[in-house]
Amino acid sequence: SMADEPQLIKPIGKSVVHRICAGQVILDLSSAVKELVENSLDAGATAVEIVLKDFGEDSFQVIDNGSGISPNNFKVLALKHHTSKLADFPDLESLTTFGFRGEALSSLCALGNLSVETRTKNETVATHLTFDHSGLLVAEKKTARQVGTTVTVKKLFSNLPVRSKEFSRNIRKEYGKLVSLLNAYALIAKGVRFVCTNTTGKNVRSVVLKTQGSNSLKDNIITVLGMNTFSCLEPLTICISDGCKVDGFISRPGQGSGRNLGDRQYLFVNGRPVDMPKISKLVNELYKGANPKQYPIAILNFTIPTRAYDVNVTPDKRKIFFSKESAILQALREGLQQTYSPSNVSYSVNKVE
Ligand code: ADP
Ligand code: MG
Repeated sequence: SMADEPQLIKPIGKSVVHRICAGQVILDLSSAVKELVENSLDAGATAVEIVLKDFGEDSFQVIDNGSGISPNNFKVLALKHHTSKLADFPDLESLTTFGFRGEALSSLCALGNLSVETRTKNETVATHLTFDHSGLLVAEKKTARQVGTTVTVKKLFSNLPVRSKEFSRNIRKEYGKLVSLLNAYALIAKGVRFVCTNTTGKNVRSVVLKTQGSNSLKDNIITVLGMNTFSCLEPLTICISDGCKVDGFISRPGQGSGRNLGDRQYLFVNGRPVDMPKISKLVNELYKGANPKQYPIAILNFTIPTRAYDVNVTPDKRKIFFSKESAILQALREGLQQTYSPSNVSYSVNKVE
């Protein structure tokens, strides 16, 4: 058997390594679509359309009106660790884009079938590009399109048999998670119109999300979550220190939600949707002090200098490492305690801004 004899150490084949790593960057449907939406936002798009076939199981497409991709980038576009966003390691400290590692398109190539249609303002026609599983450009043809980019991924995970089965089995759950993530971007992005549609096998097309691209968080909340939800929220601003602050909206004590709806708490750091379990827990805990039976809806954006946190904790960049986490938690605790203190009379009037 394997264990009896000393074994030779050999390198794993490149394409296998690529597939394994890709499966860590792209965990599921929502992390795949998230990468494409972030690319559109990084490209300065003011309109982003997400087109799903069979809830994303058959294909998904992200269409934007951003800068487009220049022809001299076509060949390297989907190669691993190729990016236009990060020149040097020190840049990591002053990141302002969502992407910077050049891993998304390369990972999507490894896991499914990727094609791109793009045009910059310097071209009169667009180009349709097809890539293989290793990220090599294998076909190129001219086509008509406005300035911007469309990325299409067909049959995500078809290249990872176990994940693929799991993906089909859990597709409704994956879809639900995706819709909630798209809501997060639609809430926080200023001046960007979002549309998401889903078409099922029987050619029934439904509009999942549609926003007007307002410039205020308040208007975005009303569009995405509805006026009824908005009218139960209270604006909130907490200064932390050193240029750090939190602002957004949170449920009033008597007007929370009956269940712990994870999908109604949206947390952001500098406009980047992130998972912050400790902060969610703290928000729930403090709300319980004022209203033991309910959970708060919360839309909170943390403004933190880029040098004070790291998003490179997990391959999907959803977790975040703060250098001053305890100070942030403490300030949030104090701020929420004040917001929810019985002497805070603003709740007695049904105030709608
Ligand atoms: P990253 O975003 O980390 O740079 P990606 O693999 O997501 O890596 O994208 C690789 C490169 O492709 C980007 O740096 C960008 O130059 C280009 N790109 C991808 N999507 C778009 C888009 N929608 N519009 C314009 N350029 C794009
Ligand atoms: Mg990217």
